[in-house]
Amino acid sequence: QCAAVCPTGAITIKKSKGKVWNALFDPTKRVIAQVAPAVRVALGEEFGMAPGENSIYKIYTALHMIGFDLCFDTSVSADMTIIEETNELAEILSRNEERRYPLFTSCCPAWVRYVENKHPELLPYLSTSKSPMEMFGAVLKEYYKPSDEECGLETFNVAIMPCTAKKMEAEREEFIRNGKPDIDAVLTTKELASMIRELGIQFADLEPTAPDTPFSIRSGGGVIFGTSGGVTEAALRRLAERTNPALQEIRYSGVRGLEGIKKFTIEIGGRAVHTAVVSGLGNAETLIGLIESGEEHFDFVEIMACPTGCIGGAGQPESFLEDKKKRSSGLYTADKSALVKRSDENPVVTKLYEDGVLKDRARELLHVHYKAPAASQS
Ligand code: SF4
Repeated sequence: QCAAVCPTGAITIKKSKGKVWNALFDPTKRVIAQVAPAVRVALGEEFGMAPGENSIYKIYTALHMIGFDLCFDTSVSADMTIIEETNELAEILSRNEERRYPLFTSCCPAWVRYVENKHPELLPYLSTSKSPMEMFGAVLKEYYKPSDEECGLETFNVAIMPCTAKKMEAEREEFIRNGKPDIDAVLTTKELASMIRELGIQFADLEPTAPDTPFSIRSGGGVIFGTSGGVTEAALRRLAERTNPALQEIRYSGVRGLEGIKKFTIEIGGRAVHTAVVSGLGNAETLIGLIESGEEHFDFVEIMACPTGCIGGAGQPESFLEDKKKRSSGLYTADKSALVKRSDENPVVTKLYEDGVLKDRARELLHVHYKAPAASQS
């Protein structure tokens, strides 16, 4: 591994290609790729495709050509994150208590680190639901454990992310179980493009292929996670009535769009839910100020550190705002064509809860409690 310096100076960005190539050539490893929602609408730009063009099925083809044993979509575990996070929100709403702070999302590791460093008073208000990447990491390691033991293999999880902060998240002590990380390596979108080029694969000309089974179905809610407001829209879908008008009401509530701060109120189950969606840490600071001064009150707040959300992550190809808008549209188009719209109706995920690795183990595998700064990693 070699290291490069993050342009923000906040973290050191480790390049992980060497580690992944080594695993791919190791016959004792079952190498699994999971691909984050935002990657599919940006990777093609590295190969002359238009911003926003959904290349997920070409990505699966390329990953198999590179040598990955199994390829899955992180949107599947985004469905798990929504189920767990909305359980938390529903429980808070049912208490009907006066709370100074809302439930904050915690799937962005740069935001979590910001809270630890600058606003430790908010730590108790962060959702304890792990990010989709870490949920999938834990589920995959548990799911393949019996087969690994039988075949003398070790599952090696590679996450392909739009994000450089995910490398730091993968190494956090909270996500190391039995001495091993649940995510073994994180590749950015640009690193995957570089591996594709190294093999001389003509990406734009690839035939599409499907993800592997059994994690082959994701909901529309899971795929819009990659754009600002996507987590909130998916969460509200789960809590709202199961009708098309309810879905439309959420869509037009003000949740969509790439503005840095979006605020809206929506009625769910006879109760007004005050919500904010924030992208960019400067905007997060502004919103925290409004909450702390008592000027604003929210029940649920989504915060993503990158302006526009993960579609504009530091691991993505460089882009202008217009390109980001197209990436965002690409995710909403993928949602539109999804047969399953709500995360809790994803049959792959419900089966895991009913009689799979999440039966009686969801709390253990899918939740995390971030420690006070003094006790956490530097
Ligand atoms: Fe990573 Fe940026 Fe997405 Fe946060 S918003 S998870 S830092 S890409």
